[in-house]
Amino acid sequence: MNKLAIAYSDDYLGWRLGSGDGSHPTKPERAQIAVQLLTQELPANSFEVIEPTVLDGDRSKLETIHTAEYVSQVLDLGRSGEWGGSKPELGQIAFQMFAGTARLVELIAAGEALVGFNPQGAKHHAQKIKSEGFCVFNDHAWAALEFKRLGLKPLYIDWDVNAGDGVQNLLADTDIPTFSIHGHGIYPTHSDTWLREKSGQGNYEYSNPDQHWYNYNLAQGQGDQAFQCAMDLIAEKVDEYQPDVILLAAGADGHEGEHWGLKYTYEGYSYAAEKVAELAKKHCQGRVLIGGAGGYQPFTHTPRIWANVVKQITAVS
Ligand SMILES: [Zn+2]
Repeated sequence: MNKLAIAYSDDYLGWRLGSGDGSHPTKPERAQIAVQLLTQELPANSFEVIEPTVLDGDRSKLETIHTAEYVSQVLDLGRSGEWGGSKPELGQIAFQMFAGTARLVELIAAGEALVGFNPQGAKHHAQKIKSEGFCVFNDHAWAALEFKRLGLKPLYIDWDVNAGDGVQNLLADTDIPTFSIHGHGIYPTHSDTWLREKSGQGNYEYSNPDQHWYNYNLAQGQGDQAFQCAMDLIAEKVDEYQPDVILLAAGADGHEGEHWGLKYTYEGYSYAAEKVAELAKKHCQGRVLIGGAGGYQPFTHTPRIWANVVKQITAVS
C-alpha cells in the first residue's frame, strides 16, 4: 500500500473559468505544479498518482448532494455561473475533479491509501442548486457523507481564507462536524460564517454545536498567531468528536502574498499541517483526505504550500 494517493490528470489544465482567455484567477497550472513538486520530492515508491476517471454511478453520486436539475445544467447543457455560454467540456472537467475525490475516498475507505490529495478538490463553496465562488460540484460534502455511509466518522476542517459555506450548508442537517477558519469581511458574505461571537487573540468564533458547525473569523492582518490559535481550538473539539477520517480543505490563499489580508506564512501552514497530522494519527489511523481549495499564486506559493502540507501530513500519518 502506498500511504499517499494523488488524483491528477493533465485534463485539469483545461479548467479555464470566466471568459476562458486565461485572465481568471483560478489557474489550473497550480495543480500541475503541486503534483510535480510532490513527485520530484517524495521517494518514488511512497505514493501513486491516480487518474480522476469518471465511472458509472458517479452522476448519481452528484445527485445526492446537488439537485438533478442542477447536475443536468452543468453536464448536459454545459452551463454554470462560473463561465459564460455553453461549455460542456468545462462541465466534464468539473465532473473529473469530483471523480478524483471519489476515487480517493474509495482508496482510503478500502485501506489502500491513508492520505488522499486532489489539488482540484475541496470545491467548498458549491451549493445544492448552484455553483458559487469557482466551485461547481461539492466533492468534500459528498466525501463526508460517503465516509459516513461506509461506517467511518468523518470530520471536516477548512483553512481556506474564504469560509467553507457550501460544505457547512450541505452537512448542516447531519452529525458531521465542520470547522472553518477564514477571514472576516471577505467572500462569502451571505451565511452564518460571517457572524462574530466569542473573541480572543484575534479570533472570533461563531458556532452552532447543535448543527456541529464551528466558524473562526479572523480579523485582517492577524497572521500566524490567530491561525494557530484557531487550530488549537479546533484540536480540542476534534478530541471530543474522535473522528475516523479528517477531510481538509487546504486553501493556500491566506498566505501573506495574497490580497485577502490574513498574512499567514509558511510557518503558520506548517503548524496547522502538523496539528492535522497529529490528530489524524491520534484518532484516524492516519486517514486524511486533502483538497487544494483556493490559492491564487499559481506558479509560486500556492503549489509550494499544498505540496508542503501534503508531505507533512503524509510523513506523520
Ligand atoms: Zn479561498
